[in-house]
Amino acid sequence: MRDFSQDHLWLSINTATVRKQRGVEQPLPAIIEACAKRGIRAISPWRDQVAAAGLGRVSSLVKTHGIALSGYCRGGMFPAADAAGIKAAHEDNRRAVDEACELNAACLVLVVGGLPGALAGKATHKDIALSRSQVRDGIADLLDYARQNKMPLAIEPLHPMYAADRACINTMEQALDVCDALDPSRTRALGVAVDVYHVWWDPKLEAQIKRAGKERLLAFHVCDWLTPTTDLLNDRGMMGDGVIDIPKIRGWVEAAGFAGYSEVEIFSSVNWWQRDCAEVLDTCIARHKSVV
Ligand code: ZN
Repeated sequence: MRDFSQDHLWLSINTATVRKQRGVEQPLPAIIEACAKRGIRAISPWRDQVAAAGLGRVSSLVKTHGIALSGYCRGGMFPAADAAGIKAAHEDNRRAVDEACELNAACLVLVVGGLPGALAGKATHKDIALSRSQVRDGIADLLDYARQNKMPLAIEPLHPMYAADRACINTMEQALDVCDALDPSRTRALGVAVDVYHVWWDPKLEAQIKRAGKERLLAFHVCDWLTPTTDLLNDRGMMGDGVIDIPKIRGWVEAAGFAGYSEVEIFSSVNWWQRDCAEVLDTCIARHKSVV
């Protein structure tokens, strides 16, 4: 396992971690500058942040600073209530692939979606099996396009508490079953993003990481699970403040061949989003060295 204690060469910052300090949306160029200043070599930005700053501007900024993208957030949201919705998702996901290519991202992260309408507060049906089959079809369809453009797709299994509204793929096993069905020759075109927040509790985690192997392990996301967790979405903890044995899980992904960035992804409306960007980034660096 790599020694992270001496430097932060393998730290990446998911830019949602510092996106709205004290309620104010932070411009992505300022986040990039703050990362560059600290020798942080990689980020993973969100599409809306990139759109707000302008794709061309972000692309030239990351090139100027030599900053890599450990991933691009995000594609997915495949299920829909009707054909028009499926088509809209199809088109939007192709645009996400194009943007990821322009930014030279390591992968496009897929949050696959759940029951149509649930995210807005009212699901149009209760058939999660239907959603799962639409997800599979959507990924199969996008995979052709992503392959042509040489952009790997990383399915991110989300914690089961998000099954209705954000992702009906909730375990590594489910995600890898989809990978094996759609990319049986393990070409690295399709894999998983392992986010410790979503999968730490899974009794099959170690075995599924082994099963994934280096061809399928495309991204590794870290934060911590707080007890108690006061908000299902925006109460993620800083590494070291919760109950996840992060080094153990990192040991498993590295033993399976993963050698990429450890990406900090913290949504924290009551704590880390209430602090200065500088303090959050400095804390990420310190915790990356001490508890990741
Ligand atoms: Zn994640």
